Order: sequence, then structure tokens, then C-alpha cells
Amino acid sequence: MKPMETPVTLETLVALCKRRGFVYSSADIYGGINGIYEFGHLGTLMKKNIRQMWTSSLDNQLGQVVQMEGALLGPEAVWKASGHVAGFHDPMVDCKACKRRFRADEFDLSKGCPVCGKKDWTEIRAFNMMFKTQLGAMEDGSSVAYLRPETAQALFVNFKNVLTTARVKMPFGIAQIGKSFRNEITPKQFLFRMREFEQMEIEWFCKEEDAQNTFDFWIKHRLEFYKSIGVDMEKIRIRAHEKDELAHYSKNCSDVEYNFPFGWKELEGIAYRGNFDLTQHSTHSGKELAVFDDATRTSYIPHVVECSVGTDRLFLTLLFDAYREDEIEGEKRVILALSPAIAPITAAFMPLTNKLSAQAKLLYETFKKTGMSVDLDESGSIGKRYRRQDEIGTPFCITYDFDSENDHCVTVRNRDTTKQERIAIDGLSEYLKNALHTWKR
Ligand SMILES: [Zn+2]
Repeated sequence: MKPMETPVTLETLVALCKRRGFVYSSADIYGGINGIYEFGHLGTLMKKNIRQMWTSSLDNQLGQVVQMEGALLGPEAVWKASGHVAGFHDPMVDCKACKRRFRADEFDLSKGCPVCGKKDWTEIRAFNMMFKTQLGAMEDGSSVAYLRPETAQALFVNFKNVLTTARVKMPFGIAQIGKSFRNEITPKQFLFRMREFEQMEIEWFCKEEDAQNTFDFWIKHRLEFYKSIGVDMEKIRIRAHEKDELAHYSKNCSDVEYNFPFGWKELEGIAYRGNFDLTQHSTHSGKELAVFDDATRTSYIPHVVECSVGTDRLFLTLLFDAYREDEIEGEKRVILALSPAIAPITAAFMPLTNKLSAQAKLLYETFKKTGMSVDLDESGSIGKRYRRQDEIGTPFCITYDFDSENDHCVTVRNRDTTKQERIAIDGLSEYLKNALHTWKR
């Protein structure tokens, strides 16, 4: 096995995702929509694993975490209070020559249009990135609604509901996984910047005097999460925002960045938001959002530390991070060396020939019932089946052959090392469990 030093490109991954059914462009048969994607079978399984690892990573000594699933559509009042109606803008400019539209802050306008080269620009205008719609048949101001541009507001708006019904005590966290929508002027880099995307977000509510420690805690904790899902930590760094990058209400903000082929980019944002959000919603709704502190007999509006990562962006990161090419016996092999906790399929069961189909199927069904994500792979030569499973990241291929009939063993082949071991069927479950837990990048 000889590793090949070919740096993976975005195009390589896009092609792999399409070929193997991880990701399709939206409404593909109609030509697709820019910045919107759909996830196929393997992509769906992998996203489910990412969500599950993220959710379980939130359990820690800091305190209780409860879950929420907010609505995608919200009334204008929410987005006025949050500042999005007035301020969620990107600067937009049009090329008068070729009619293309660009974000004015992404390149040097004086160098001319990136498409046609002309220097005939419109004025730079502010473009609100929220998708606006209306509810019901009334076309007046009261029916205006927006698809949420971020998941966080649902957690602030429901803070009091959660506090009074979920039996939580300060400090605590509310976690949410769900979709957000941003009308990006120039969506790009595949899943990196999309118009419809999923966020995994936790808002941690605490006292002001604990906020800085909490912020420091989450930075460390989030790094451990990336290590736990097998990301190359050489490609991860923390970048603290400069003062002029901070939102006016934000006291401190750091990005977890990943070294993509197109440079170091934000993967997750960790922000100390002060008590801006709850204060805004309290003012705009007229509802009391302070909590009472029994110890000091005073009320206060909690401060918030937020950790927010895009599921799709993490999905893309994990693919970049896991992609390898090597050569076995003169043949090129593509591997996704994903952590078994993330890989869409944990084990693929294979009969050596069609004559052993029934026995392999029985094994497959037994493991499926335990909740393990398994595949039954019967077509093509064993070598071809190995290549296919390597390319979708399956850590173990399990072959039932003619010897299995007598020795009640199967051959387990390891994706990363290509080594094969003869394992008793009786001990297979234990063997896999152990191998999954001891997996190292
Ligand atoms: Zn142009």
C-alpha cells in the first residue's frame, strides 16, 4: 500500500459525493439551484451521525443541557428585535456590462469584473439576506414573516418557556439543530456557503461574572469535540476576532477554523454575546426575561455564550479531512478514512459468491437489528466491493466464504490497513465494538 500525495480538490469531492450518492444539487433534473443541495442515502446517514456526536458532546460538567426545535418561519417582530431587519445586510454591486451580481466586499472593484473584465459598476447597495414571505391571504404589514437566518433567536424567544417548564436551574444550555436560510448573493464552495443550511447551536445562559470562564471552557471543549470525531488537529486552529470584527453587542468571539484547500475558514463560531439578545426581546415584547437569584435576592438578565457550527460545513470538512488516495498492487484506491462514529456504513456484509447469499444476508439482518448501520454488498468481485466500500468510508468489510460453513468464522477486512483477520461469528459483535472504540486517526 503506497500513499499518494495528491491534494484533494473541491471538484474531486463534489464528484465523489455525486457518484456515490452523498449529495445532489437541488432539483438536479431541472438544472439545479445555486447554493442549495440535497442529501442522498449515504449523506443522510452521515449527517445523522454528525448530529448524534455533536449532541452527545454537549454532556459535560458545566451543567444541564436541554433541547429545542424552533419554527423555521418567524414574525417580523422577532427579527426587528434581533436587529436582522435593520442590519443583516451584505454589500451588493452589479456589473452593468455583463449583468452579473457580486458581493462588493469580496474583491477589488477597481480591478474590474471577474467575469467580463469591464469596470462599469452600479452603486454599491445594501442587500438584506433574509427570505421574506407573508402568512395567510392578508397583504398588510402584520402578515410579514421571514425564514430564519439563524437558529439562535428561537432559543432566546423561548428562554422563559424553557426556564419555567424544563426544570432547569441556572446556569444551563439550550441546544438546537435545524435549518437556517440566507439569501447569499454568491453562494460558493459547494456545501461551504449555502442558501439553505443546517446549524447545530447551543446557547449557554449564565451570570455575567461567570461568562468569561464559560467562554474559555467552551473553546477548549469544542476543540476536544473535533479531536473526538477524528479531525486532523494540525488543520484546526482558534482565531480570536479583532475588536473591529466583533458585533457591537459581542464582548468576545473566537472562530474554530479549518485549513480547507481554499484557505483557513470558519468552521464554528464561539461568541460571548453579553445579555444583548434577552434584553432586546424583553424590551420589544414587553415581557420580563430576568431570572431571580435566591442567594442575592436580586433579578438579572442572563449573559450568553454561543457555540454554533454548520452541519453541512462540518460534513464538508470531514470529507476533506478523510479523503485519501493510495495504490494497492498497482491499482489506485480512494478511501474516506472517516471515524467509524461518522462513517455512513459501519460494516458491509459480503457473500464470497452468490451461493452463500442467504448466509451473508442472515448475518447482515442480525446486525441490522442491533441498530448498527450495515450494508449487504453482493455484486461484483470482492476486490471491486472493497474499493466501493473504501470510497464511501466503510471501516469493515465482512466476507462469508465456503470455509465459514465449517469453521463458523468470517474474514474481517480493515479499511485503513487493508489487513484481514479471521474472526469467529460468535465473537464478531464484540470484535466490532472493540475495534470501533479503539479506532485512531
Ligand atoms: Zn461583467
